[in-house]
Amino acid sequence: MLSINKDQKRNKVIEKRLLNKKDFLIIAGRDPDLNIDNLKKMKVNELRALFKLTHSIDGNLKDMRGNCFGCLTSLRHDYTSKLNKNYCMDCL
Ligand SMILES: [Zn+2]
Repeated sequence: MLSINKDQKRNKVIEKRLLNKKDFLIIAGRDPDLNIDNLKKMKVNELRALFKLTHSIDGNLKDMRGNCFGCLTSLRHDYTSKLNKNYCMDCL
């Protein structure tokens, strides 16, 4: 689960951002064992699955698969957007 420290709770300022391909290439660039050229050819959804990461939340990298990528609530089969299975019906 998300850990939120007291300061963040008080201020309610939480940075929440969906990771994009550029983020993954930066993350991969820190690991000399990874082949960046191969990763550049992959789709962002494939990169999210490979790294098991989807979001940056207050600077912490998190795996929010199974939750809506917009509002981060748990996805339910009967309330998942038909346009994109990573979003709930409220967000897409
Ligand atoms: Zn949502």
